[in-house]
Amino acid sequence: MPNLNVGMSTQVLSTVDRLEFFEALFNSADVGICVTDEHHRFVMCNPAYCHAYGYSIDELIGQPFTKMLPPEMRERAGELHDEFIAGGSESPGEWDVIDKAGHVRKVVVTADRVVLRDGRRYKVTTVSDISAAHRAQQDMHKLNLAIQQSQSRIVITDGDGTIEFVNDACVNNSGYTREEILGANPRVFQSGSTDKAVYVELWATVGAGKCWQGRLVNRRKDGSEYVEWASISPIVDENNQTIGLLGVKEDITERERLTKQLHSLERFDALTGLANRVAFFEALEARLLHLKSQTSRQSLALINIDRFSGFNARYGHEAGDRLLQHVAQTLAIDAPKDALIARLGPDEFAVLPSLENCLADHQAVRWLGNFQRKLHQGWTRNGQLYVVDVSVGVALFDQRCQSGGHPCRPSDVMRMADAALRSAKVKGEEQVVFFDTDVALKEQETLQLQNDLSTAIERGEMYLALQAQVHGDGTLAGAEALLRWRHNTLGGISPGRFIPLAEDSGEIVSIGHWVLKQALAVLASLQMHDPGLTMSVNISALQIQRAAFVDEVNHLLEETQVIPSGLILEITERVFLDDPELARERLEALRRLGVGISIDDFGTGYSSLTYLKYLPVSELKVDQSFVGGLPDDEADAALVTIILSAAHHLHLRTVVEGVETAEQAKYFTPFSDVLLQGYFYDRPSCVEHWMEKWVK
Ligand code: C2E
Ligand code: CA
Ligand code: CA
Repeated sequence: MPNLNVGMSTQVLSTVDRLEFFEALFNSADVGICVTDEHHRFVMCNPAYCHAYGYSIDELIGQPFTKMLPPEMRERAGELHDEFIAGGSESPGEWDVIDKAGHVRKVVVTADRVVLRDGRRYKVTTVSDISAAHRAQQDMHKLNLAIQQSQSRIVITDGDGTIEFVNDACVNNSGYTREEILGANPRVFQSGSTDKAVYVELWATVGAGKCWQGRLVNRRKDGSEYVEWASISPIVDENNQTIGLLGVKEDITERERLTKQLHSLERFDALTGLANRVAFFEALEARLLHLKSQTSRQSLALINIDRFSGFNARYGHEAGDRLLQHVAQTLAIDAPKDALIARLGPDEFAVLPSLENCLADHQAVRWLGNFQRKLHQGWTRNGQLYVVDVSVGVALFDQRCQSGGHPCRPSDVMRMADAALRSAKVKGEEQVVFFDTDVALKEQETLQLQNDLSTAIERGEMYLALQAQVHGDGTLAGAEALLRWRHNTLGGISPGRFIPLAEDSGEIVSIGHWVLKQALAVLASLQMHDPGLTMSVNISALQIQRAAFVDEVNHLLEETQVIPSGLILEITERVFLDDPELARERLEALRRLGVGISIDDFGTGYSSLTYLKYLPVSELKVDQSFVGGLPDDEADAALVTIILSAAHHLHLRTVVEGVETAEQAKYFTPFSDVLLQGYFYDRPSCVEHWMEKWVK
């Protein structure tokens, strides 16, 4: 063992001393040492050796060393032992051995040969257990493979931020070679599209020793961008020093694209490509929030295609779809720059101009007018020209716009725009109406009237006015009952205003019943004076349509004991437009009660002389529009003459309405059996005054 002599002075130590030292060395060494003889038997084993394999010294001495080896290795190990002892060489190597507990251990062995003076040969073996290191190495290898093959992109930098490691996924995606990346700074991946604030936050987080997670837009060597979800964490050593950074990144480009697509499906109208209701209301809500700090007036335009359902019915839904696309395209061209254009309903669009470009005032009419004109000029499809008209309602609003004390909500703005649109529809085609104070007041008043209508009679606000109907000589023939409403705050409301509301809500049924009852009471007292006098009462189509109406009239006639022929029910053509057959039956039943039926406003609308033959009517009221032009207007004169002679031949009582002047009155002198009604003879007045005037 020449090496062991190094540094020892053989002159100072005796052989016995040296033996002592070597024994101590043998016993204290932490590497296992054993000596085996020519028969493969353990002759000596140091404590480290015994300890490493879990055996006591007694369990080893005299035993073959091959007992420590897996069975399949034993024969070969024996041969090598023999060869070595005989003088051969054995290169140090790794062996798998088995400890007492049966665990396989990885060891590195070195060997030496000792030949004693008597010729006996021994093998001295040192054994280092490298199981732990081996396992660590194996783990490391596996870890390396795992990281290298991971689908996630992994980057490791040193403490200075220089890239020390990148895995295949990262290299392959980047388009750089590994060599180009290693040694570089992760900045090579930056695209410039990530917000600077993101990096500020990243470095603050990582600098504080924490893991940062977030979205990064990065760039490949070829310039193409991709989006990554990155987790970047400091690598900290056992001394709490940051020795590098670990970045694990997932590519979320495709996921983001899909999400965006999905999102856009939820937010866009598939037919026109415009924003849909959801997107529109989000934008409107955001705009209203913004308004809090803004003084500028904002606007919202609602656009509705006139008679769209008719267009659909006539040309088919395919053509209807194309029409909607055409309107959408025209809007996209004409609307102010950066405006949000949305399709809110089947044939309804909305335009919300950008903050900078709002339609702050009536100047907005200019583009809307252009837009309307363009559509009106027509649109050619498959060789056919279609004219498209749209109505437009514009709401103007600012942060003062309040409703019920709370700040303006999207629904408030929509209500304003809707009101303006409705008003545009009423005004006729191709209208732009702004929701300004006029519309607002009217709208508010309508709401109030609708609300108050149901209790107006109870509150004593309704009353009847009477207007006389006279013979040619000016003597009284009867009266028409005209309903009046004196609202407690709004004052007199004209029937032209509230009757349609009452018809809309159905309130007209009970109101009409009340009118009839009042009118019959008046008729009863008139008939006491002169049994030939009549009372005309206006009846809404809604009343006639009810099956119970005939019974109600009958009941009231009995209750008031009037002569039925004195009651004349004035109806309009609307009664027989929907269901002429039902109307005829109903009117016949009424006629059987003995009451008269008059067609009011005759000559307007679709009045047809054939009705007169078909329907059981007893009277015609010539509409006042024919009288206005008399006596000069020849067309009016001709029409009135025709109507009057037809009525005469059909034995119908005839009343001419709207006689305002002496000339007009004189015009009718030749028609001796015609009754006259109008301001020239009498203005409608309350029952009391009227009775005083006409029936002393
Ligand atoms: P109408 O049945 O055609 O009534 C005649 C209207 O002409 C009345 O207006 C009357 O005041 C007005 N008038 C009478 N003479 C003249 C005249 O010489 N010149 C002019 N320019 N106008 C004249 P009013 O009272 O405002 O009634 C309007 C409409 O309201 C009525 O038209 C009728 O359709 C409806 N209406 C009134 N009362 C009732 C009712 O009790 N029930 C129902 N269902 N409708 C009613
Ligand atoms: Ca009437
Ligand atoms: Ca009339």
